[in-house]
Order: sequence, then C-alpha cells, then structure tokens
Amino acid sequence: MLVLSSPSGAGKTTIARALLRSDRNLVMSVSATTRQPRPGEVEGRDYHFVDHESFEAMIREDRLLEHARVFDNLYGTPRQPVDGALAEGQDVLFDIDWQGTQQLRQNARADLVSIFILPPSVGELEKRLRSRAQDSDDVVRKRMAKAGDEMSHWPEYDYIVVNTDIEASVAAVQSILAAERLKRDRQIGLADFVNRLRGGEQVPG
Ligand code: 5GP
Repeated sequence: MLVLSSPSGAGKTTIARALLRSDRNLVMSVSATTRQPRPGEVEGRDYHFVDHESFEAMIREDRLLEHARVFDNLYGTPRQPVDGALAEGQDVLFDIDWQGTQQLRQNARADLVSIFILPPSVGELEKRLRSRAQDSDDVVRKRMAKAGDEMSHWPEYDYIVVNTDIEASVAAVQSILAAERLKRDRQIGLADFVNRLRGGEQVPG
C-alpha cells in the first residue's frame, strides 16, 4: 500500500498518474466523496461521487477502510477493491490526506509505505492552485489556508519528496517503490527459494 499525501496543488495527482502509466502492477484506490465533481472529473475514475446519506451508510456498514472530513466534504476509501487487489498480489496507490494515512497506518503498518509531497515554495503552490482554474477564488483561498495545517504532518511520513521538477519527483517515487518491493519481508517465498539454491536444486529462472 503506497500512500501519497500533500497539500492540494503540490503535484500529487500528476505524480500518481505518471506512476500508474509506468507500473502495471500498481492500481489506484478510487475514493468515495461527497464533494461535487470538478469539470473533467469522471465518476469511477477520479472518485465515486456519492451523496451524504450513501456515505453515512458506507461508514455504518464498515465498507470504508478509512474516512475523513476534508474541506467540508467527506472522503473515504472503499474497502473491497483494496482487499481484492492486494489478494491478487497487486500494489495499491492511495491519494489520501494525513487523517486517512493515520488510520491506514494503525491497521496495516507493515504493509504501508507513505510519501509526503511538498511544493518547492508557497508562491508555486498558489500558482498551481490558481492555474488549475477549476476551483473558485473562495475555494483556492480555503485550500491555501489549509495547506499549512496539512504540511505540518510531514514528520509522520516515511519519505518526503519536494516537487521542484515533476519528472524528477516521479523518478524519486518510482525508486522508493522499487526499493520497498525489494525489502526482505516483502519478498514472499524467499526462504524456500534460498533453501533450494543451497540444496543445489535447479531454480526456474
Ligand atoms: P480533492 O478535493 O482536491 O480531490 O481532495 C482533497 C483532499 O482529500 C486531498 O488531500 C486528497 O488527498 C484527500 N482525499 C481524497 N480521497 C481521500 C480518501 O479517500 N480519504 C482521505 N482521508 N482523504 C482523501
């Protein structure tokens, strides 16, 4: 489980899309939210857009792995697709905030790798939020005010990437993923493999 968090506008979504294009073993967890879709957002790809009542039902029925309120809206991670992908041996990418990351960490510490993306400067953050041009001035102002709060959670993450250059940031996240997959504990069947090697058996390449 690979979590990417950042204040909005730091480039997290762009990094996530590039990762998904380059790595067929990685699938995105599509969150449920009560927020209105932005222009261009697609139901089922960007989010599952649901009303308040449906969201409350998902909480009651324990169908969310985690959930949190962010900017007056509710966001949550549907449990079943994540369990399904993990059971098939796929890795799952999450674009969730620090509150959701804390909840996942409590439930699955050993399986979780978390990365916090920081913008190179406040000026750049505001520029990116404005150039998105999808949100009203009021929303941009709210998000800028919230960015400081959000960023204060950086020490809770395993890795920090300052997104000065998008290609370099994507490469950094790919390196983290590659290294984490090579960790001894994540290489299932390694003990048997080494035993066969030591016994002189031919191991299929
Ligand atoms: P946005 O409205 O810009 O798509 O997302 C706002 C914030 O909500 C982002 O920081 C994003 O990471 C976070 N978020 C999106 N989906 C989830 C989720 O399922 N759970 C949690 N805890 N946060 C989420």
